[in-house]
Amino acid sequence: MNYKLTSPSADFIREIISGDLKAGKHGGMIVTRFPPEPNGYLHIGHAKSINLNFSIAEENSGVCHLRFDDTDPIKEETEYIDSIIEDVRWLGFDWGDHLYHASNYFNRLYDYAVQLIKDGKAYVDDLSREEIREHRGTLTEPGSESPYRGRSVEENLDLFERMRAGEFPDGSRVLRAKIDMASPNLNMRDPTIYRIRRVPHPRTGSDWCIYPMYDFAHCLSDSIEGITHSICTLEFEDHRPLYDWFLDELKVDCHPQQIEFARLNLSYTILSKRKLLQLVGEGHVAGWDDPRLPTLSGLRRRGYTPESIRNFCRRIGVAKKDSMIDVALLEHCVREDLNKRSPRVMGVLHPLRVVIENYPEEKVEELDAVNNPEDPSMGTRKIPFTRVLYIERDDFREEAPKKYHRLAPGREVRLRYGYYITCVDVIKDEQTGEVTELRCTYDPETRGGYSPDGRKVRGTIHWVSAPHSLEAEVRLYDNLFLKPNPADAEDFTSCLNPNSLEALTSCRVEPGLKGAEPGSRCQFERKGYFCVDPDSTDKKLVFNRTVSLRDTWAKIEKAQRK
Ligand code: ATP
Ligand code: MG
Repeated sequence: MNYKLTSPSADFIREIISGDLKAGKHGGMIVTRFPPEPNGYLHIGHAKSINLNFSIAEENSGVCHLRFDDTDPIKEETEYIDSIIEDVRWLGFDWGDHLYHASNYFNRLYDYAVQLIKDGKAYVDDLSREEIREHRGTLTEPGSESPYRGRSVEENLDLFERMRAGEFPDGSRVLRAKIDMASPNLNMRDPTIYRIRRVPHPRTGSDWCIYPMYDFAHCLSDSIEGITHSICTLEFEDHRPLYDWFLDELKVDCHPQQIEFARLNLSYTILSKRKLLQLVGEGHVAGWDDPRLPTLSGLRRRGYTPESIRNFCRRIGVAKKDSMIDVALLEHCVREDLNKRSPRVMGVLHPLRVVIENYPEEKVEELDAVNNPEDPSMGTRKIPFTRVLYIERDDFREEAPKKYHRLAPGREVRLRYGYYITCVDVIKDEQTGEVTELRCTYDPETRGGYSPDGRKVRGTIHWVSAPHSLEAEVRLYDNLFLKPNPADAEDFTSCLNPNSLEALTSCRVEPGLKGAEPGSRCQFERKGYFCVDPDSTDKKLVFNRTVSLRDTWAKIEKAQRK
């Protein structure tokens, strides 16, 4: 795993760009773009690309376009388009008027293809997909030329026009660039640039039955929009000669520079739309916004803030070499952000009933609690204290070792913002032997959690008033995969973690949380950061645990410093 972090000012892309600006290229204007294909929901890997493209534009007073690369209607849906718009906006980026669709350029792309044919640089091929693959050769052997490669310009123009007019069945013919079947770069061996597909398009309907291929559409869309730097991931490095070939052959005015960077890989996580689609489709998760998924909608539902994701992207930086980022860093970033902004409350996940024997039956006291010790401006709140309370089941042990600082028979603990209590008796279920209730006494002198006689207790535990508390469901999450690199597994679904979701259905939380809106966040003291789920109803709140309080990343960093 690679823990080395680069600062945003130091990365190689920003160096190229500042060099270009110094050299007076592009008239001093920087235009980038984020070009998602609307065939799935965005994930945290896309956030890296979004953050990079929009930040670079921002830092240089430039603009960043949002462009849908919607050239393949088979896999593309409007639902995806809407979710992508929502997610980029949620991350806090603004494309102004610059929302584009590659499908808007279908006419111009068609004209460019005609120009290539006229220049003798493209031809209609009647070989089947299979045959084209067979003719392609291998990394060590050159390809062989199609028997249709020598067609005249006139014949090619006529056939291409008829392809467009719908005269030929799907898959019967393609338009190919005429480059070099012996090129050591397979992408340059006469790549297909148009194919016939009678599939209605979400935006152009049935206007077209031929669609351009990615490599052809992408560079030209960049050029049409006046993109200066076309930033993409490393797998496109071998496509760059083709990117440049189209633009050179077509002698376009604007020739953007393609720059590749390493995509984000995150441990215990899958970052591939195809595989995420499979997880959703096969029901391994509840949907694209399942809080266990690395999709932006999943992270949002889980309680991640856009700021924490942007900060994560800034910290991982960009490099030219593939690496794996520890998911603990992502969790560290959200913890850091939530620590500052989250009000603290008390919530008991596994309730154990406690009766304070010397506390009056009907009495209710309003105790003062601090909302966020990190931020005094967040003020204080009142929490009710009563004779019957709930505490966390694992804050009590009948047989407690010496170092156990919580509650045990005969031992005293502090209730957070409350009183000192001592356990005097344990009630058990006669049949199962399970502890069902603790009988305790409290020391009235210790209100607020301090003893005037200076008596110390070792432990402080959280609690709620039994009659005032609200019932809640709390969903705890673990990694969706058991292996650090599930993408390496032959079948990535074989290493799904069967315990990635634990739903606790009878938790008790502070009464002040009544009516908490979906999306609102808090820290349950000692239990982690939580976010109200849209599944919440008036009757029952549902919380997702965003992240626990245990910071494994801080430990890793500390170990590295040593
Ligand atoms: P996936 O590999 O998940 O299917 P994709 O590359 O097919 O993603 P696109 O919609 O084409 O998805 O991606 C839009 C942009 O996001 C592209 O520029 C792509 O390079 C970038 N991108 C996709 N995945 C990552 C990643 N893991 N890290 C960084 N950038 C990414
Ligand atoms: Mg892609």
